[in-house]
Amino acid sequence: MRPPKKDASPDTLMAHLGEDRSQYDGAVVPPLFQNSLFTFKDWDDIDAAFEDRTNRPIYTRLVNPTTRIAEKKIASLAGNNSPDIEARLTASGMAAVSAAVFHAVSAGDHVVAVKNVYGPTNNFLNSYLRRKIGLDTTFVPGTSLEQFEEAITPKTKLIVLESPSSAVFSLQNITEVAQLARSKGILTMIDNTWATPLYQKPLQMGIDLEVHSASKYLGGHSDVVGGVIIGSKERMQAIATQEGELFGGTIAPWTSWLITRSLRTLSMRLERHQKNAMEVAAFLEKHPKIRQVRYPGLKSHPQYELGCQQMSGFTGLLGFELDTDDLFRIKRFFNGLNYFQIGVSWGGHESLIYAPAISYLKELPPERFKELGISMGDMRISVGLEDAADLIGDLSDSLDAM
Ligand SMILES: *Cc1c(COP(=O)(O)O)cnc(C)c1O
Repeated sequence: MRPPKKDASPDTLMAHLGEDRSQYDGAVVPPLFQNSLFTFKDWDDIDAAFEDRTNRPIYTRLVNPTTRIAEKKIASLAGNNSPDIEARLTASGMAAVSAAVFHAVSAGDHVVAVKNVYGPTNNFLNSYLRRKIGLDTTFVPGTSLEQFEEAITPKTKLIVLESPSSAVFSLQNITEVAQLARSKGILTMIDNTWATPLYQKPLQMGIDLEVHSASKYLGGHSDVVGGVIIGSKERMQAIATQEGELFGGTIAPWTSWLITRSLRTLSMRLERHQKNAMEVAAFLEKHPKIRQVRYPGLKSHPQYELGCQQMSGFTGLLGFELDTDDLFRIKRFFNGLNYFQIGVSWGGHESLIYAPAISYLKELPPERFKELGISMGDMRISVGLEDAADLIGDLSDSLDAM
């Protein structure tokens, strides 16, 4: 079989790219290379492999053929099938975030990051790296370019974006921030987990590095923890031989194999997540016991226009606020759901609910919630692949009982 054409569409690429079935007895599903090392004919053969060690399999910490298949597919999504874009899978989303940050910064540098980045990313920058290497990070809301301009100093080496943010669903204007950063020689990275490389293409908008938690939609079945970094070939080779090889946050081949399985259905899963989330969000928005809904796909979202400009679709994670601060009633709603299971994470086949107050209350008294813009009744739901009417019925019943 010949490789897919350069202009093949994403669904076709996910089905065929990176898979040479003639090498595997025609097996329609590629084999799992569950091995740590690869062996060679002779001295010259292994010597030649070392010359090209970011591409040729020698040892699975750097290259594994099963992992390469998933990496090629993801790179083709993010890079519109350009040969200059490469992806490297990592052991988790945080392994991708930490490797990408370390690629960009050194001791004493300054970083500008959006305030609502993923919690552990915030912690990594603001607490861990500040303490360990004296990294100074300024956090900005990220809703206007001026906020970035004002925060940049002569020591700024990196700007960290997450759009939409998976905590509060606010967006950044990716093209504008990328242009500003380029004009000042500052590197940019974005956590693109919410939109996925199918619905948002930050590298095409001038961003240098894109990271994802593959534990969410790329995996999609709540059966893997993994991550991915995507960028130019040159940058990705540097990351592979430095942060990749030295930190060793390597993905297991079995996990990569599952991700390849998942990528084949990415676009149909996302279509359904989007359709379901739109219907659920529209229902919640009209409900008298809901104060507000935070979903970039709703016209009422303050950055709806920007979202339509820079994304080609919306996914299934959204937030809403119950119209009460009474913890007894909030728990009655939360505990009363049937199809929305209680749990963290998101992006899998199943619908989930989480209340951020469960985490906040461990560090803050409820009296301080208001000044920080947090509410006891804030809910975050991941709308899964179940039937939308059933999901709405579930929410409706529990709201009635609240
Ligand atoms: C889950 C998540 C991560 C971290 O990914 P892991 O695979 O859990 O390490 C990073 N960013 C966002 C937005 C996430 O939701």
